Amino acid sequence: MANCTVCGKQTTKQCGKCSNAWYCRTECQRSDWKNHKKVCKYPFEIKESEGKGLGLFATRDLQIGDLVVCEDPIIYLSDGIKGVLKSPQTFKHTYENLGVEERNKILALVGADNDLTACNLVMESCLDSSSRKEDQEWKRALRIYGRNAIAVDDSGSALFSTISRINHSCSPNVDWSYLENHRTRKEVRVIRNIKVGEEVLVDYLAKSESFPLTSDRKEALRWGWHFECKCSLCSLDHDENDALRKRVQQLHDSVLNCGRREDVEGAANAALQKCKLLEKCEDLKIHLPVAYMELYETLIMLNLYRRAYGINDAFMAKVADRREEYREKAYKHCRRTKLYIDKAMYNKKIKRLAMMGGSHILLR
Ligand SMILES: [Zn+2]
Ligand SMILES: [Zn+2]
Ligand SMILES: [Zn+2]
Repeated sequence: MANCTVCGKQTTKQCGKCSNAWYCRTECQRSDWKNHKKVCKYPFEIKESEGKGLGLFATRDLQIGDLVVCEDPIIYLSDGIKGVLKSPQTFKHTYENLGVEERNKILALVGADNDLTACNLVMESCLDSSSRKEDQEWKRALRIYGRNAIAVDDSGSALFSTISRINHSCSPNVDWSYLENHRTRKEVRVIRNIKVGEEVLVDYLAKSESFPLTSDRKEALRWGWHFECKCSLCSLDHDENDALRKRVQQLHDSVLNCGRREDVEGAANAALQKCKLLEKCEDLKIHLPVAYMELYETLIMLNLYRRAYGINDAFMAKVADRREEYREKAYKHCRRTKLYIDKAMYNKKIKRLAMMGGSHILLR
């Protein structure tokens, strides 16, 4: 609790960009903006990150849910990165229609090594050896795209002048999401507390529903982003973490396989074990909202078909009757990180379950 910068009323709401000013309502914030904008900044600076080119570093301590940056793309294509690389002409067209300022922002997005030659095979094959001068700029931009573009809006991809500079870690401290009414705008929020001076790091592989081991992650990053991962997770002794990931992956597959066999009890048990393991593993916690919703779903099914499946009462009392608690956990995680993508997943699941089983099960 603090006092509103404008009217002095008690409030818990801060400026979302800098967290340095407090406001009780939008009107107060708006009336103060003329003054506040002179000092309002996102909480990071861009500087050299050893061996990785430039990176983002926190300029103050940040907590889970804090906004690091929110930004519109410099260039957006409705195709995914692989699709763009396969049909470079679409990229050429979009790129050449940009203003000089935007094009310069894109060309500035090169790592410190300035090495754009080691790109993947798809790209090399589509970039012929033509050395006509007018062809070189967009091809250079395409290589930069291949290295720095980020998936947006389910199937599209885009370059951002700040967000594209965030370096990777297999044990990230931020995650990103599109916004509710702006599918191509992206915001980056803290998922693990960050100390002032610490680098802001995102997991480039995070959105896939899998739990890759060290060797697989390294391979994927080498292939897709052309670097050797030396993050805290990859450089430590990673046997223990790999064993944990292997187990989580097994449980994840087991939920699906049991579901296919209509073994709902088996699916529920696996989903529960999966959540318990994820809770223990810092670098996998971003999977928790989805995992808890998966558990909730299996328990809803159990409850609906308990007779048909002959589920015994002991299991119901021990696990299934606690389903609302697990739904609440998913909700709490989504609310904590404030990432819209999590909230959207939560709402979508709830809607689907309501349609399947009648809303009474959800309104208890
Ligand atoms: Zn006020
Ligand atoms: Zn501010
Ligand atoms: Zn790594």
